[in-house]
Amino acid sequence: MDVPIMELKNVNMKFKMPGGNFFTALEGINFSLESGKIAAILGPSGCGKSTLLRITTGLLKPSVGEVYYKGELQSSVNDRMAMVFQNFALFPWKTVEENIELGIKEESDPSKTKKTLEHIIDVVGLEGFEDVYPKELSGGMKQRVGIARALVSNPEVLCMDEPFSALDALTSENLREETLDFWSEGKSGLSNILIVTHNIQEAVYMADEIFILASNPGSIKSIYHNSLPFPRDQKSDEFLNTVDVIYNILTQNIMPEVPKSTIYERIAPIPLVSVSEIIGLLEVLDDNKGRLELFELSEHIKRDFGRTISIALATEMLGFVETPRHDVIFAPLGKKFLDADINKRKIIFKDQILKIPIIKAIVALVQKSEDKVITREECEEFLIEKLPNERAEDLFETIVNFALYSEVLDYDSRDEELSLITQNV
Ligand code: ADP
Repeated sequence: MDVPIMELKNVNMKFKMPGGNFFTALEGINFSLESGKIAAILGPSGCGKSTLLRITTGLLKPSVGEVYYKGELQSSVNDRMAMVFQNFALFPWKTVEENIELGIKEESDPSKTKKTLEHIIDVVGLEGFEDVYPKELSGGMKQRVGIARALVSNPEVLCMDEPFSALDALTSENLREETLDFWSEGKSGLSNILIVTHNIQEAVYMADEIFILASNPGSIKSIYHNSLPFPRDQKSDEFLNTVDVIYNILTQNIMPEVPKSTIYERIAPIPLVSVSEIIGLLEVLDDNKGRLELFELSEHIKRDFGRTISIALATEMLGFVETPRHDVIFAPLGKKFLDADINKRKIIFKDQILKIPIIKAIVALVQKSEDKVITREECEEFLIEKLPNERAEDLFETIVNFALYSEVLDYDSRDEELSLITQNV
């Protein structure tokens, strides 16, 4: 076999957190990619996709492990790779052409550069827009500029971080297709595309290799070789079957069928979502006869797939829904909660959160403290000790949000103190 264009060996990534602890974002990452292939890094929000992409490009140095490019150990930013960002990352005070020019390397021959620039502007459909400023462009046109700026450096690998997720469905579909056309023409010297996405259809439409990531810590759970011939027909049975297979792998990883009895037994992290997101999910379920498939739910609540799964898991943890396979259905308590007035809702919510071990433990900590008050710092230290692999600040925010809503605890954000609301516990 030829030398792979890129290869990651035993990559781990730990971030140092305020307070000196480490957060493991990626663990045990191994993959290689053949030249000429498109790979997708697929997984829910926060599982480490962008971090993995940045490590691959050399923008970030892994804590452990090696990155190889065409068989050579990579020790700095790889200038054969170019990046396209979700939020376009354009300079508002520069015109379309000036923004694209930023992608040109300093050492390039100026006469060639002008030609490349004109060619790229033509290819990505920006002709006539050269002197326009980003604010005058639609989202789709802005991303054309982002893509042009990456392509103008004649990269071998185009790295794309959720490039189409801020765009409407039709625009993203067009841009996906155009990106594939550009790659398959091969005239530009573009050999590979590495795309980060949480959209299964996008991964199946574009990629030959799909690296399916799981969270906590981010790791590759499965690599799917997608051999559907190009151009891919999104409505064909083969395409839909592939989406289903990947969907199953992804949801198995993220939504294991845990026996309900184990949910409340040990101190475990809770999904980082807000009470209003939980109520929003229940309202949408109510409008849809109490049952929705996860993908449909994600469309209805206008959250990406990864976020939708987190909200569904939190709602399940509270006993408000059940999640058999890929469906989310009302549990009787969820319906009762939604139909109740605000005071009854708070009581139901309080009863449920006090069954969750980590919240129970925090409430006990406050109860045991001298004045029934603990500082945010003390609480976060406790969380770090109990759940060292979690982001204590995020966990704290979520617990406070739940506890404030149900009037279990009070939080003084000025003094950063958590106290007990005695009459309620
Ligand atoms: P994704 O792209 O899958 O949404 P990211 O790679 O952006 O995930 O992040 C993975 C995890 O690593 C998240 O919990 C994120 O908060 C954390 N993380 C990313 N970058 C840093 C950083 N520089 N410092 C601390 N934590 C980080």
